[in-house]
Parts: sequence; structure tokens; C-alpha cells
Amino acid sequence: MSELMIYVNGEYVPKSQATTSIYDHGFLYGDGVFEGIRAYNGRVFKLAEHIDRLYDSARAIALNIPMSKEEMEEAILETLRKNNLKDAYIRPIVSRGIGDLGLDPRKCPNPNIFIITQPWDAMYGDLYETGLTAITVGIRRNAPDALSPNIKSLNYLNNILAKIEANEKGGDEAIFLDSRGFISEGSGDNIFCIKNGRILTPPTINNLKGITRAVAIEILEKLGYDVLEKDIGLFDLYTADEIFVTGTAAEAAPIVKIDGRIIGNGKVGPITKQVADTFAEFTRSNGTEI
Ligand SMILES: *Cc1c(COP(=O)(O)O)cnc(C)c1O
Repeated sequence: MSELMIYVNGEYVPKSQATTSIYDHGFLYGDGVFEGIRAYNGRVFKLAEHIDRLYDSARAIALNIPMSKEEMEEAILETLRKNNLKDAYIRPIVSRGIGDLGLDPRKCPNPNIFIITQPWDAMYGDLYETGLTAITVGIRRNAPDALSPNIKSLNYLNNILAKIEANEKGGDEAIFLDSRGFISEGSGDNIFCIKNGRILTPPTINNLKGITRAVAIEILEKLGYDVLEKDIGLFDLYTADEIFVTGTAAEAAPIVKIDGRIIGNGKVGPITKQVADTFAEFTRSNGTEI
């Protein structure tokens, strides 16, 4: 297969030549924002929502993306067309751009815009059938009054530290608590827990406003379940009948063990299965045509 083409500031260049300077503040400081988007069956799922969030993330860090949302949408679709992709993972990245070694973003006049697209299979493989093991990690989720967890920024050290800790402790996924000790989210996905047919998920003050999270809530409510956005504690997780996490990469992934506690009967629960199946139907028939 020929090399994947990457969008770089308005040009389409082969992957091996898609580079930026080591003086790009995205590299030096994690100063920039990104999105993770999927295309299924020739359609990009929730494209407008992802683009809105990219621009919101940028606005929150006072980064002005030098193209309109319409132009961004067209650039994403064109990158997919150039690579002849129908099912893909899409990664738009906007970095602060090239500056000097100082922090000052005023020294970076031109943000860099990259769009990576690539083929993509299910993130957790067989684990969708058997369920994931999760570990609540000691490292806390970034506090809203420090670096807001609502920003999908290039600074993912908080999440990487969680992943390192979960790996070390034998978990497939890390679950963050916030600085108050309430459940926040996974390292790259939002969390839901189910008890007696009632669905709980944390409000988005302490986690990323997941687009898959919003779709899962919509699906659950259509199926007739009550979804309650409220603070959740460790006790709620340990005693849940079912737990699942949602994200563009993870889709809806079941968690069957957390900190050594078996969740429910240790198998993928019926409501989780319903959400995952409905989500799969949804992604295959909705979205912006490439
Ligand atoms: C991207 C991400 C999510 C999931 O968001 P989606 O819009 O559903 O993909 C959740 N948490 C974190 C930390 C993320 O980076």
C-alpha cells in the first residue's frame, strides 16, 4: 500500500515527510489541542460535534485556529478521500506553532494544523466480549481550576501517568478520581455505572465532555433507562451491577473487574451489551458522508 497522506497546513504530504520543528510549542510544551474522530462505513461520526469541541478547546487556551470550521470539515473529508478511507481514525491537531524556547505564545504567530487519518480496528479486541479489568489510580485527574479536564489538549501527561500506573498494577484501563476523591473518568474515556437498572455518570466538571458519553446517554434514555449525572464514589463502583466506559476509540467497553472487585457476575452486563449494540448500529448509519 502507498504511504498515507497527512494534511499539513493546507498541503497533503506523505507520512514520512509530515513533520514540524522541535521549536513547535506543541512539542516543547504540549501547547495545542486535538480531536479523535472515527469514520464508519464511509461516514464520519459526529463530525460537527468534534469540530465544535476542537474550536472550544482552542478557545479555552486562547489559540486562534486560522481556518473556519467549514474549512476544517472539508480538510478532514479531503484527507480521508486522498487516502481512500471508509473506516478510519481521524486525528486533527492544532499546535501553538513555532516559537522560541520561552513559554510566551505571542512568539508563535502561526499555529500548525495537521490531520492524520488511518485505518483502525476495535481498540480492545476480545475484551469487548470478556470485559476489561480497571484500576483506580493514585494520580488525580487535573483539577478544573488548574488545567481543565474539559480541554482536549496536547498535554496528556496526566493521562499518561494514569496509564503507567494501571499498566504497572495489571489493569487494562485506569480510572481517575478527582481531587475530592470522586470518580472522574478513564484515561481516555468516560465512565458509567449501573445499579438496579439506574445509570449513573459523573457530571462533566471533572472530566472530558465526551461525545460518545452524550450518545450513550441518548441511547440509554431512548431504551427507557433513567440516567443520573451525579458525583460517584468508589463504593458505587465496587457495588455496581455493571460498569462501562465510552470514547471514540473505546466505543462502549465493559469493565468486569475493578481494584480486585468482580463487578456483577464478572460477565458483560445486559444493559452494557444493549448500549454497545445500539451504538454499533448508530455509527454505521449516521454521519457526514465522505
Ligand atoms: C477523548 C477523551 C474522552 C472521550 O471523548 P469522546 O468524545 O467520546 O471521544 C474521554 N476522556 C478523555 C480524557 C479523552 O481524552
